[in-house]
Amino acid sequence: METIARGVDARVRGDRIAEAWFSSHREPFKTPPGRQVKGLEGRIILSVHRTGKHIVCELRRPASGSLSHKDASPADAQWIVHLGMTGRLLVTTPDAPLAAHTHARLRLESGKELRFVDARRFGRLEFRELHRTAAFAGAGAEPLTVGADDFAMLFRGRRLAIKAALLNQTLLTGVGNIYADESLFRAGIRPRKAAGRLTRAELERLRSALVEVLEHAIRLGGSSVSDYVDAAGVKGFFQLEHCVYQRTGQPCKQCGVAIRKVVVAGRSTHYCPDCQG
Ligand SMILES: [Zn+2]
Repeated sequence: METIARGVDARVRGDRIAEAWFSSHREPFKTPPGRQVKGLEGRIILSVHRTGKHIVCELRRPASGSLSHKDASPADAQWIVHLGMTGRLLVTTPDAPLAAHTHARLRLESGKELRFVDARRFGRLEFRELHRTAAFAGAGAEPLTVGADDFAMLFRGRRLAIKAALLNQTLLTGVGNIYADESLFRAGIRPRKAAGRLTRAELERLRSALVEVLEHAIRLGGSSVSDYVDAAGVKGFFQLEHCVYQRTGQPCKQCGVAIRKVVVAGRSTHYCPDCQG
């Protein structure tokens, strides 16, 4: 599964869906085909990743008046492919022979075509608009178990601030505001640095810092990370000795410089201007 999602990602990332076609079978569709066509056509594929037994395509409409595929806006929709027992997602060209049981074809601007083939029709195709529906549950990687390579893949090519990327639940599950600030401090990374510009060494420091901070939170009384993710991200974490979170103006515990507060992705963000990048 992982290999499939990565292979598709490498070949269609940044491409735009020119035209979508669905078979007339009813079974494979969790969202009616007409709605999927309407949602998919014109959208850009930001990334493709695996979540459990699903492959999720993160999508976005180009900003109005601009056909630039490269601005850093977040996904506004998801196309979710449940492969079931026999489903396959293929990247091919429109002239390639059509396999029996092809239920969906997305013609891409680059000339490629993405196809969903499922002989047993147990697969499921779903389209979600993220302003109406929550992002696919558990869509993000699990920060306590994600490997170094997968962790690095999450941020590759992304222009959004690393702080915003850490809070994005479609990338990582369960990283609240405090965890993000405290992890970035421990890793020595400026919160507004573009996620895609982090070096491999920085990414590895960040992954270790996240594990350290989250495991600390769990030891303080939770059975899982999700126990600690409430709206404010505060629950259960008050006992941890904060290095930066809500210490605006106080001296950094490592260097003595005053901690600063900025807003990133609409969330208050605390960092040491000296220790972090
Ligand atoms: Zn400092």
